[in-house]
Amino acid sequence: MGPIRSHLTHLECSLCELRHESDRWQTLCSECGAVLLARYDLEAARKTLKRESMQGRPSSLWRYAEVLPGSEAPVSLGEGWTPMHRAERLGDRVGLQQLWIKDESVNPTASFKARGMTTAVTMARLQGAQRLALPSAGNAGGAAAAYGALAGMQVDLFLPRWTPQPFLLEAKVHGAAVHLLDGDIADCGAVVREQTAEKGWFDLSTLKEPYRLEGKKTMGYELAEHFCGELPDVVIYPTGGGTGLIGMWKAFDELAQLGWLHSSARPRMVVVQASGCAPIVNAFEAGERRARRVENPQTYASGLRVPAAVGDHLILGAVRESGGIALTVTDLEMAQAQAEIGSLEGIYAAPEGGATLAACRQLTESGWIKAEDRVVLFNTGSGLKYPDPPEEETT
Ligand SMILES: *Cc1c(COP(=O)(O)O)cnc(C)c1O
Repeated sequence: MGPIRSHLTHLECSLCELRHESDRWQTLCSECGAVLLARYDLEAARKTLKRESMQGRPSSLWRYAEVLPGSEAPVSLGEGWTPMHRAERLGDRVGLQQLWIKDESVNPTASFKARGMTTAVTMARLQGAQRLALPSAGNAGGAAAAYGALAGMQVDLFLPRWTPQPFLLEAKVHGAAVHLLDGDIADCGAVVREQTAEKGWFDLSTLKEPYRLEGKKTMGYELAEHFCGELPDVVIYPTGGGTGLIGMWKAFDELAQLGWLHSSARPRMVVVQASGCAPIVNAFEAGERRARRVENPQTYASGLRVPAAVGDHLILGAVRESGGIALTVTDLEMAQAQAEIGSLEGIYAAPEGGATLAACRQLTESGWIKAEDRVVLFNTGSGLKYPDPPEEETT
């Protein structure tokens, strides 16, 4: 069987719906500056992309080739198609009959950032990129460095000075140029933005190009495949830039059009953020459409140390439309939850994964989640890259 063709047709602005061509590199909408979304000929795609006949497809996210960009020649390390771990012992502990952990720590580069980078780097290569650049708080940088290396491209990473050592070692092993800056990931993003034109970089910042989202949306496809055309009742997602949540929400619409879903019911989408950096939670609680930038963001969960998200309105829109909720947990709660997942389920979760369990517990105790709800926690990465967990204060 030869490669399956991508049915990508064009890009569309998420706000003004203007059409953009997908045969050259596009960043944000040239008219209104909003995020661009990839669109496919789903009528054509559904002829071959059938939920019942997925056996024999690759054990990676490229099994959904028709609805991904650049499927004819992917830059791939075997990302996606991760275990859906039935967490029975943990479920008993928190009082849930049906609890799962989607374990993204087993991806190449040990986080789900690999999902976004395989598609983004594939398209960058297709469109003639030689140099990639991005700001990162850790995992995105490592993944960009790895996929860039595989594609034979130069990668420039801009990371906050506090980025933990394992992320820096990883990036250097893959041959990336690592630039450490004062400030947070938004400050790093500003530096990339200033220099992109002059340096001839392809800017891979979250949602500033349309294709990382496409890789991340496959988590939604995997949910539908795992639950045989149903979707869980609740999805708990540790939210930084929100690509995965926006991507899954997009996937649910595509899946409906592809005829994969038994009903129109969607999961209630739960955003969890750190109490020291919670722009989306603040906006959710205030009933606002956009989020305000957080000053002095603090949390050891580097994936959540994102003070401002370009896709804030898309995250908030999805959460509200789904009947979901947004809430914070403390660093200490994340660390305790990491230990609980580790000791009951054998998974060394990232602090961001711990955050989903801490949020799940709050929502179960308050009655927002019911004992019989089917709940999926996203463990988005491995705990191994975070050497400095917070310690309990001794008073
Ligand atoms: C980047 C990252 C997140 C946040 O992901 P978004 O889709 O950008 O919100 C969560 N957890 C880990 C481990 C990450 O690396």
